[in-house]
Amino acid sequence: MEDKKIENLIRKEEKRQEEHVELIASENFVSEGVLEATGSIFTNKYAEGYPDNRYYGGCENVNELEKLAINRVKKMFNAKFANVQPHSGSQANFAAYNAILESGDIILGMALQAGGHLTHGFKVSSTSKYFKAYSYGVNKETNELDFDEIRKIALKVKPKLIICGASAYSRIIDWKKFKKIADEVGAYVLADVAHVAGLIVAGLHPNPLKDGIDIVTSTTHKTLRGARGGIILTNNKEIAAKIDKSVFPGTQGGPLMNVIAGKAVSFGEALKPEFKKYQKQVIKNAQVFSNYLVNKGATIVTGGTDNHLFLLDVKKSFGITGKVAEDRLIKIGIVANKNTIPFDDESPMITSGVRFGTPAMTTKGWKEKEFESIAEIIWKVLSEKDDKNLSKFSNDTLKLVKGEQ
Ligand code: PLP
Repeated sequence: MEDKKIENLIRKEEKRQEEHVELIASENFVSEGVLEATGSIFTNKYAEGYPDNRYYGGCENVNELEKLAINRVKKMFNAKFANVQPHSGSQANFAAYNAILESGDIILGMALQAGGHLTHGFKVSSTSKYFKAYSYGVNKETNELDFDEIRKIALKVKPKLIICGASAYSRIIDWKKFKKIADEVGAYVLADVAHVAGLIVAGLHPNPLKDGIDIVTSTTHKTLRGARGGIILTNNKEIAAKIDKSVFPGTQGGPLMNVIAGKAVSFGEALKPEFKKYQKQVIKNAQVFSNYLVNKGATIVTGGTDNHLFLLDVKKSFGITGKVAEDRLIKIGIVANKNTIPFDDESPMITSGVRFGTPAMTTKGWKEKEFESIAEIIWKVLSEKDDKNLSKFSNDTLKLVKGEQ
């Protein structure tokens, strides 16, 4: 590469990704094929519009490409309609809301602190500027979704849209219960499956479209293991037409055709039998990992996990904040993120929890044994009273990453 400064940063990042234990629940490692397609000359092409209906000439190849991506993702989720153009999960959400709502309409989503996403109506997100946002949380005893409470709130605030799905929730989400509440109050219901999309495709988590949810949005880069971006799915023809208009020209311009190429490659991978095997291992690893910590005496929010992630209450378990825990872990080569836990008394920049996920290291081939070893290291490091004693653990982590242990 001619630009040595950027090349140097790419090499440094490559080394970081090779030598660290990647436990951020929303990250993954894409295949060479996804990387190649995303870095391809499709980046040069403008293609405003949709297949066979573009505002630019020379679209014969991108038309075929986008049709392939659409057909593959429809097959994955058993969806009738799909839009693969959203540049990100956040843009997919905003475009979906914009498709069916007017500004000022009422939305009801999961609170950020309880595990929801910023775009589900959190106060700093533009979703709360253009829509009147209310939130639901989790049950104080179980830390799980409390449908009686959600119903009560829905009956009171009368939302036009109920948003379900989460960024930090480790239990199966019962889409049917959301649909029932939405029907009772006359609301649309949208499931944001950004985190569990891969599990859904593998049949390891209920599919919201099968359960009657109106719109499904997702990122493509978490458990789905594709190029970074978003998608929107629906089985409703009228809503599908509104979504297409809302993505382009409503909220975006030209689609990133190179990213759509990367998405298409990953969708092809997700349709292969190995993908299901991978997702099964992702869940198994998360359960072994969280159970190991529980058996040591740690507090995990909801007591465990049904999916690819869990929240460790580091305050209850070790008397430290999420920020201190995150800093300590990075010192020994483990990357995870501090995360608020339900009813947290710390700010989102400090937090009482750390979120751990298994998709990335499972892609690298880790199984139960490696996750038990990393759980033991994490337990020791977070129990350590003096930061000066941490360096001895770096070697253990590196050995584990390099497969030498
Ligand atoms: N929705 C959920 C549930 C998420 O967890 C995230 C990202 O973390 C998003 C949406 C937003 O995705 P992006 O970062 O691509 O905008």
